[in-house]
Amino acid sequence: MRSALKICICVGMAAGAMNPMMAQQQSRRWAIVVHGGAGVIERATMDPKTEAAYRASLTQAEAAGAKVLDRGGSALDAIEATIQILEDDPLFNAGRGAVFTAEGKNELDAAIMDGSNLKAGAVAGVTRTRHPIALARAVMEKSPHVMLIGAGADAFAAEVGLEQVDPSFFFTERRWQSLVKQLQKEGRPVPARPAGAPPAPPAPAAEIEPPNAHKYGTVGVVALDRAGNIAAGTSTGGVQAKRWGRVGDTPIIGAGTYASNQSCAVSATGTGEYFIRLGVAREVCNLVQYKGMTLQQAADQVIHKELEALHGDGGLIAIAPDGQLAWSFNTPGMYRARQVEGAKLQLGVYNDEP
Ligand code: ASP
Repeated sequence: MRSALKICICVGMAAGAMNPMMAQQQSRRWAIVVHGGAGVIERATMDPKTEAAYRASLTQAEAAGAKVLDRGGSALDAIEATIQILEDDPLFNAGRGAVFTAEGKNELDAAIMDGSNLKAGAVAGVTRTRHPIALARAVMEKSPHVMLIGAGADAFAAEVGLEQVDPSFFFTERRWQSLVKQLQKEGRPVPARPAGAPPAPPAPAAEIEPPNAHKYGTVGVVALDRAGNIAAGTSTGGVQAKRWGRVGDTPIIGAGTYASNQSCAVSATGTGEYFIRLGVAREVCNLVQYKGMTLQQAADQVIHKELEALHGDGGLIAIAPDGQLAWSFNTPGMYRARQVEGAKLQLGVYNDEP
């Protein structure tokens, strides 16, 4: 009898069965996934120094989020901490280091969503708020609205005491040269160098980024905290040489950013127009919630089938309250990192890495 019982327990465990206690313990392990944009990121065009810099930056930002979660902090706090570091890092197309519009400005978009209560905050076209992700969170927590845009959003940021900077704070030579190059190539007018930018270097800066670099660098984080709540956040400068107040998917809840404890949390990156049309982030969660797909199956279905059917490009990261993590992209690379409590950090750049 005894040995039969033992066998039963072993078989049950091997098949993944857990008593409620064990399930609860498992769901209380925190986890975090970070992306730094998807695009034409290939070994052939990436020099080792640049690659090492991206890997180091991702590691540092992820560690900040992991530290918050490890102290028992919320998924929202971890996301904000991680994204603020990436917004300050000139390597990424968010905050300082954002791409320029055709008029030579940096117009920033961001969103955050709390999966525990479906509250969300988003901003688009901000030009003076140092950390757009903090502003998105303030919209969620301190205003009755979900989305604010342009000068009004910056004014709200100032009102709630968020750090304001001169627009030239976001200027980087690398992104400026990239804009100039694109506009010249397309025969479009090149705007004057922005007021407040440092003087132009005597000779144009050497090629410090691979071709098509302007196509990536958006940042996003999804996290699961020890309380079992998930959240998502994304921040970007959008696409280079954008015009007419263009807004991409990043601040559109359900397109570039979404979180619900009923299904999953997603942060996307890629050509935003396609992500908006497909409602990518919500679509992934729908497949999990209503079709019973695993998180990875749902992410792959949306990226490799639905996005590809429209000839869209990009990727996403996702997390579920039960601890499932996923990433999926149809570009040659996506800067990415993930970690589960008690396990090692996993970093990736190219599409042949796990
Ligand atoms: N999705 C962003 C946008 O369209 C850009 C990106 O992720 O690279 O604004």
